[in-house]
Order: sequence, then C-alpha cells, then structure tokens
Amino acid sequence: MCGIVGYIGTDKALPKVLSGLKFLEYRGYDSAGIAFVKNKSLNILKEVGRIENLDKKINAQEETYVSIGHTRWATHGKPNVINSHPHKNGKFTVVHNGIIENYVLIKEKLIKEGYSFLSETDTEVIPALLDYNYSISKDIMVSIRDTIKELEGSYALGIICDDDLKHIYAVRNGSPLIIARDEKGYFLSSDVPAILNFTNKYILLDESEIAKLSFDEYKIYDTNLDEIRKEEKIFDGTPDSAMKGNYEHYMLKEIHEEGKVFKDTLNYYVDNYKFKNTMPNFKKYNKIHIIGCGSAYYVGNIGKYLIEEYTNIPVLVEVASEYRYKKNFYDKDTLVIVISQSGETADSLAALRKAKEDKIDTLAIVNVVGSSISREADYTLYVKAGPEIAVATTKAFLAQTVLISLLAVKFSNNLNLLKEYDNLEKHICNLLNNNYEKYAEAIYKHEDTFFIGRLIDYALCLEGSLKLKETSYINSVAFQAGELKHGTISLIKDGTPVIGICTDENIINKTISNLKEVKARNAYVIFITNEDIDEDFYDLKLVLPKVHKLVMPILSIIPLQLIAYEVAKKRGCDIDKPQNLAKSVTVE
Ligand code: GLU
Repeated sequence: MCGIVGYIGTDKALPKVLSGLKFLEYRGYDSAGIAFVKNKSLNILKEVGRIENLDKKINAQEETYVSIGHTRWATHGKPNVINSHPHKNGKFTVVHNGIIENYVLIKEKLIKEGYSFLSETDTEVIPALLDYNYSISKDIMVSIRDTIKELEGSYALGIICDDDLKHIYAVRNGSPLIIARDEKGYFLSSDVPAILNFTNKYILLDESEIAKLSFDEYKIYDTNLDEIRKEEKIFDGTPDSAMKGNYEHYMLKEIHEEGKVFKDTLNYYVDNYKFKNTMPNFKKYNKIHIIGCGSAYYVGNIGKYLIEEYTNIPVLVEVASEYRYKKNFYDKDTLVIVISQSGETADSLAALRKAKEDKIDTLAIVNVVGSSISREADYTLYVKAGPEIAVATTKAFLAQTVLISLLAVKFSNNLNLLKEYDNLEKHICNLLNNNYEKYAEAIYKHEDTFFIGRLIDYALCLEGSLKLKETSYINSVAFQAGELKHGTISLIKDGTPVIGICTDENIINKTISNLKEVKARNAYVIFITNEDIDEDFYDLKLVLPKVHKLVMPILSIIPLQLIAYEVAKKRGCDIDKPQNLAKSVTVE
C-alpha cells in the first residue's frame, strides 16, 4: 500500500525523492523515511507521521545523488521509527511495499545463521536475506534473484548495497513499480504521477524483473539475469491533473471533476448513440460475476441491478477477498468482471487470477493504465477518471458507475438506451453547485447514522454510508429499507439521522413507509428523492433530477459524496488521508 520512490542522477536527489514521497503519501502515511548516499556512505533518516515531519529533519540540499524513500502503511508492527523503512541489515538497505508472508520462517533461518533483527516488520528479513545470499554468491544481482525465489507474498523493493553505492536496484512481485528517466537521471516509483513534475517517460516493471539504475542508464533483467528491452511509455496526463489547484482538498477537487469524467468516459465508448469499437462484443456470455472491494464492490451492486433489469443475464456480485477463496460456480459462458480503481487491489487481482486459472474469461474495469489487473484480464475497459489522489474514491466511483451502466446497455443490445445519457452532464454540474451544508449540519454531531433504500437505491446507500464512515469517522450502516425493522431499528434514538434514498418509482412508497417507521421513533429523516412528494415524514428533503433509472445512480451518488465531504470538514477530519486508511490496497 505504501509509496516508494528513488532517484539516481546528476541532480540533487533529495528534492526529487521528497517531492515524490509527498505525492505518494496518499498510499500510506504512518511514517516515512529515506536512505541517501553521502561521502561514500549510506545515511538513513526516519520519522513517524506525515512526510512533513521527515522533511523538517532533512536538508534537501545535501550533496547526494542517490536516494530511496518510503511512506509506510504499517502491516506488521506499529508505526514507530524502528519499524519505519528503509530497513538495513548487513550490507543491504531496502524500502518495501507489500507483505512477506513467509517472513517468520526466513527470520528463523537467518537467526540460526547469526542475523539479528531490530524491528517487528516482515520487511526486515529482506535486507538480511539479501545479505546472506550475497555472502554466498558475492554478486548483488544473483543475491537479488536468489532472494526473490525465497520470498512469498507481495513486494515492490528499492535496494541499495553498501558495496555498490553507485546503483539502485528494484524488483517487484504483486505490488506496482515503475522505472522512469528525465534528462538528468533515473527514478523508481510506485506510480507515475509521483514523478510527473520531472518526467512522463516510464516503463512498467513486470513481475520478477530486476532493474539496475545507474547515473547514466538503466537496465532491466529477467530472472535468468539476461538483459531485456522494454517499451518506454509516455504518461497521458499533466502534473496539474494530479494537483489540488485552488481546492481545499483533493476530495472536493475530484468531485468537481465529475462532469468531465462522465463526458470523457462516455465519449470513449459511445459516439452518436452507437458503441465504438473500444467496447468489445460480449454476446456469448449468459452469466456474469462482478468482483470488487469496498466502493468497487458497491459499483458491482449497481451493475447487478442494471444488468439484470435490462437483460436476462443473472449477475453474482462478490467481495474479492471472499471470491478468491470460495467455491465458484462458473463455466465458459461466464464473464468475470473485476472492478478496481488502481488496478492493483491485491484481493481483486487474486480473484482475477483464480478465474483465469479456471479458464474463465475476465474483464477488468480500472482507472490506472497499465496496472496489473488491466494487463492480466482478457478484456480491459478503462474509466477516464484521471489520477485520483484523495483516499476516499469519488470521481472514479462515478466513472465506474457510468461504465457499468454502459455495459448493461451493451448486454441488452438496446441502443435506444444510449439517449438517456444526453442531459446528464448538465444535471451533474447543477448537483455539484448545490449547497449541502444544511444536511451536513444535521449529521455531523451524531455518532451513528443509517442509510436506507431498496434495490438500486440500496447500492447507493452502501456507498453513501461508506463515504461518510471513511471521511468523517461517524458510524454508519446501510440497510435494505425493509430489513431495518428486523432488529436494527432498536438502535434508532431521538435525533438519529436516517438518510432515505428513494429514486425508484415502483417501490418508493415502500421505502417511505420505512422512513415513517423510523420517524415514529424520533429519527431525524433526510429524504433524498427524484419524486415530487411533500409530506411530513421527513425533516429535510434533497431533490434529485428525474432521469431514466439506467443513469439515475450517476446522479444520486453526487450529493452523498458532497454530504460526506461537508460532514468530515465540520468534524475537522483529515479528509484526503483518513486515519488508518490508504489508497490502492495492495495487501490481502
Ligand atoms: N509490510 C511492511 C511493513 O509493515 C510494508 C508495508 C507497506 O507497504 O507500507 O512495514
């Protein structure tokens, strides 16, 4: 989950590494550290908390031209200085993103060989194992190759060896890593936007390939240690696309990009009410499984309702961390759709690999171009959300919702439905410009809230509730409206906010009855609807435009995101980097 960045070149290294780390902070922010070469020796600095704490300790103008840095999302051991990266053991210094699953066994073996360990991390076995293997082979490349053969789990590594301070080595398995160059030197990084201030030319490191970065070149080797050539790519995006601009938070900026994101995603697949050939043909499938984690799983729920509504194809939606381990009933007529913003979500990647192993066709819906899931799936449909930096997803969720609705149209073969997207951009802009203050005011002092809705509105409740939880730390539960009274209604107290989403005219009266039930128990009811209903069962009403059911979720989500944002702001939360979270969940 963490961020890794490294630089070697003729420019001073620390400004570049710190700039990259600040950008990568969205991937983890428990602690941070750097290693740099100065006067022919390696120095390590680490600090708990945000990069700014580390920044204060560092003289960025140090005469150093070789450095690796890390911002951590702790998996093994508390976020303290000792557990922070880089970790050094013997002659090797390492920054690591991921989890080493067999670290206990490796540690036991190395302790018998005389190694000792300072930290509680899984990571520390890596430099020790490198050192041990190096003591046998006396060759850094061979020791890296031998080490990765022993490591189980996921990792992206930046490595420096005391015997060779003029190189940085890098290798990955499961966790993302790119290598890039500018006029003055070479980078390694967890993603491209982190170094976009310096270059947009990069290569994607594939699993188990080893990169060796020097002052004047980089080389990539396969596991036989034969040099290989890789195609250099140009990143499609400007540094601005990953900057906050005049917005107070990335989350707000990203929500306000939703009009463009909608248009870009639609136009990439549809032209003049027809699908372009960017949308493959899926005629042969008569069963669909949709897999995701968190918000992507909720997009899957929206997809289930839409696909089942407009086709006769049954859809199963599963959380990836369950799907990867359970018995799945699929066959050659099944399409497994994996949704992931980053395209690196570890559980989703594992679920995809499982389906592929069973020879089931797979389709990826991802945002990050060239990510592992996009590369491994049989088909990939990109959403056009652009870099998403706030940890809580907003614009990528909307883009995925647009795309899953387009898939429903594709499967239904009813191209008339494409007309329903016509006025959406205008509606999106109007919703973005509304004021959500009064809704936030009603919610922010409470510690419990409920979201209720039926069918597709329930899928929106799940995401609205998650957005509120993750950004404002208010406990929030989403319920199918009819289910609340089967137990959970006991939690409704005087003033408990209950947000009811009612956009499906066929069942709106049913949900209204459920809202009346909670109102009778003194809940504070916020009624979100696209119908013209004026009664006395609610305390606040939020009116959505009335559009076709197919595209309704693209609009319904916007107020939910903005309410969560406003509530988090009122509570003084760290909106872009909520506690305990990180974006791009590359661990199981
Ligand atoms: N498992 C390592 C640790 O807990 C790396 C975590 C990360 O990816 O930030 O230190």
